[in-house]
Amino acid sequence: MSRSDELFARSRSVTPGGVHSPVRSFKSVGGTPVFIQSADGAVIVDVDGNTYVDYCMAFGPLIFGHADPDVRTAVSNALERGWSYGAAESISLELAELITGNIAWIDSVRFVNSGTEAVMTAIRLARAATGRDKILKFDGCYHGHSDAMLMRAGSGLAGQTRPASAGVPDGVSEDTLIAPLNDEHAIETIFASHSGSIAAAIIEPVPANHGLLPQTPEFLQKLADLCRANQSLLIFDEVISGFRLSFGGFAELSGIQPDIVTWGKVMGGGFPVGAVAAKQALMEQIAPSGPVYQAGTLSANPVAMTAGLTTLGKLLDGKPYDNLENLGQMLDVTINEFGNLSLQRCGSIFWIVPDGRAGRMRATTQIPANIENRYAEMFHCLLKAGIYLPPSPYEVSFLSTAHTDTHIEELATALRNL
Ligand code: PMP
Repeated sequence: MSRSDELFARSRSVTPGGVHSPVRSFKSVGGTPVFIQSADGAVIVDVDGNTYVDYCMAFGPLIFGHADPDVRTAVSNALERGWSYGAAESISLELAELITGNIAWIDSVRFVNSGTEAVMTAIRLARAATGRDKILKFDGCYHGHSDAMLMRAGSGLAGQTRPASAGVPDGVSEDTLIAPLNDEHAIETIFASHSGSIAAAIIEPVPANHGLLPQTPEFLQKLADLCRANQSLLIFDEVISGFRLSFGGFAELSGIQPDIVTWGKVMGGGFPVGAVAAKQALMEQIAPSGPVYQAGTLSANPVAMTAGLTTLGKLLDGKPYDNLENLGQMLDVTINEFGNLSLQRCGSIFWIVPDGRAGRMRATTQIPANIENRYAEMFHCLLKAGIYLPPSPYEVSFLSTAHTDTHIEELATALRNL
């Protein structure tokens, strides 16, 4: 019995499924999750002493790899000054100024502790600002685990939904509408049939939670236009893409500016940080300036803020994005060698699809059926070869600046031997 087996058995008796977030359990790939002992750069080490080149990268925050020395030093210094004040401090101010000073269409930020919280607040803000209740979301996008966002498409009328989790009241589903991605006609129909009642449309502009399903600029522009025409707000959930594709995320790359943006992951450099941001006029509706209540004991925690400040500071000159794109292009060439695999990639976000015939996919319905078993096989082969992919067929992988050409070559060798 490995040490991971032993720890998993113990964990299962004190924690649901043995883990504190479902995908960590290896439920969709089978087997025992490896328990991580330490991590540095591109490499994680498990409690049995096995090392892996990590492409899961904590599901996205670690754009400079594990234990980045600059973040480590800044955080260690911050710890010397105490780690939670529950009072005003200047590190969050510096981080807010760094963001608002470099993203022209944002001038106010509220920090929270997770992407889920950021989205919850964005939705409450949109509802308050418009005086409307309905939110339009997209099939295949994930926005955290608040009730309103845990909805799946219903089988009836366009846009109708039902809860995607036990414990979510049916009543909540009345206010969440669901549209397919990449379908202009569907969103036109939904806006037409719910005229005057949609507070906001929320979308991951680069959907990366059901595989990677990049949208066309035309589709996103259409959504923005429909929102404007209907006086609904547009929320870009850039929890994954924010600061990862460029400093200003997908909004900067595309020139399509949402009314509200949510961030997480990279902006905390691996510490629990999320944020909701918009123009000041809208943000002033949030307490204590306005009537939209939002709060957090640990919000803008100085240690987490320091990690965010250091990480974003290192991204400002844009050079890391060039390095990541070079690695990504190497990956394109590598994966294209293999007839039994396809690659979907957007900057440093990638998804290896264990099906060579999958073309460019933009909606969940275009994903080949039955990839689960082949992904599980690929996952375990790579794990044996010392490579750690996300333990789920629909989770995307991430490049960090700690990855090298050699790591990509090793991945190619392992894939060749599948
Ligand atoms: N939005 C998006 C786009 C996400 O990818 C995630 C997490 N994967 C969330 C929201 C929720 O973030 P968190 O897990 O930090 O609550």
